[in-house]
Amino acid sequence: MPKTRSSRSARAASVRPQKGTVCITRQVHFNSAHRLYNPTKSLKWNQAQYGLCTNPHWHGHNYVLEVTVKGQPDPVTGYLIDLGELKRILNTAIVDKCDHRNLNEEVPFLAGIIPSTENLVIAFWEQIAPHLQHLKHGRLHCVRLYETPRNYAEYYGPDAD
Ligand SMILES: [Zn+2]
Repeated sequence: MPKTRSSRSARAASVRPQKGTVCITRQVHFNSAHRLYNPTKSLKWNQAQYGLCTNPHWHGHNYVLEVTVKGQPDPVTGYLIDLGELKRILNTAIVDKCDHRNLNEEVPFLAGIIPSTENLVIAFWEQIAPHLQHLKHGRLHCVRLYETPRNYAEYYGPDAD
């Protein structure tokens, strides 16, 4: 017997929410100059500690930033977060402020911070987290920053061990 219009539309109107904890990640890129230098120490100490990375004439990195949101998908949208929204947040909070900048000299939220990869992931978390507090189904889980394809640091927030 052919299905009636009403039974087809009733079936089309139902969704099956998926239960499970998921991580979703957005990657962005930026290029920045920096040097590793502790101004409270001598040049000799800095050179011994950092080698070429303390070159006073700076050097650059093609940074890759990956930001992960964790949670259970919204049963209505299937999203933890709209990745377009996450892209806009990362561009506003990080990329627009750091891209083609000198991280030691030109980025107000990094003032006084030695721009090691380790320190940058903590500073970036602090910039990104306030933009994600409104999420109902996800929360900021990890900020990962690649300084080179082989070196990266990860931060899981102030409450993680
Ligand atoms: Zn470097």
